[in-house]
Amino acid sequence: MGDQWIFLNNEFVKKEDAKISVYDHGFLYGDGIFEGIRVYSGNIFRLNEHMKRLYESARSILLNMPYTQEEMTDLTVKTVEKNGLDDAYIRLVVSRGVGDLGLDPYKCKEANVVIIVEPLSIFPKHLYETGIDIVTVPTRRNRPDVLSPKVKSLNYLNNVLVKIEAHLANVSEALMLNDQGYVAEGSADNVFIYKNKKLLTPPGYLGALEGVTRNVIIEIAEELGYDVREEPFTRHDVYTADEVFLTGTAAEVIAVVKVDGREIGDGQPGEHTNRLLECFREKVLSDGVKVKGSSSSLSVS
Ligand code: PMP
Repeated sequence: MGDQWIFLNNEFVKKEDAKISVYDHGFLYGDGIFEGIRVYSGNIFRLNEHMKRLYESARSILLNMPYTQEEMTDLTVKTVEKNGLDDAYIRLVVSRGVGDLGLDPYKCKEANVVIIVEPLSIFPKHLYETGIDIVTVPTRRNRPDVLSPKVKSLNYLNNVLVKIEAHLANVSEALMLNDQGYVAEGSADNVFIYKNKKLLTPPGYLGALEGVTRNVIIEIAEELGYDVREEPFTRHDVYTADEVFLTGTAAEVIAVVKVDGREIGDGQPGEHTNRLLECFREKVLSDGVKVKGSSSSLSVS
């Protein structure tokens, strides 16, 4: 692999030179936002949806974006092209920028903008065939009326704690419940269950991020004629479901075959999960923005 290029505040720099100040408020306070996006065979999957979420997050926390949404889209395409990768993971990070040690975001003059593109597959390939074991953890999901999951902020300690608890239980992913004990989501993915001929996923108001992949799966399942519902459910419903799977940009669609020691269905990835994964894999090749053919007039040094 050649050099990895990072877009950092209007220039491309090599990975080892991509540095920002320790006074950056993303570092000091988690004051900033981010997105994770996938490129499949030169197609940046659902780039516009991710950009929309990024700009809505910025609007919600009064973060001044130095680029318009169109410019940011274009810069993302350019960074993918610059790195010459057809299959990749993109991380967009926009922090409040450099301020002083106080919390006041108004002392930060300019946002820091970072675009990272690198090869990635979160779970080893064979797990998509075998499925994964997960647990539910003691850490509860942030209440959505305290910190909205719709803002994809750099404040991920809630999710990091879940990941730590997953590690402590020797599994790769875990489920969070919300403050009322309903299932919310994984540390960085949404959850679906198939039970009584219905496909269920928790509604956003329970604390789940309304993930782009989640929405794609809802669309695909509805097209296939499934009865899809955004409805609250409990751990009991998960344990007794026919099938359970997780969705996310990094995780894609992955079957869950054991939860808290209870085997799901017959302990194998189920037919509905496999069918949805297959359709998802077809869709990721077409539904998005092609890497070649960027029409930007923005110049990046
Ligand atoms: N929930 C959380 C907390 C996440 O961080 C993510 C990853 N962005 C998801 C769900 C899945 O969302 P998406 O499908 O948009 O990647």
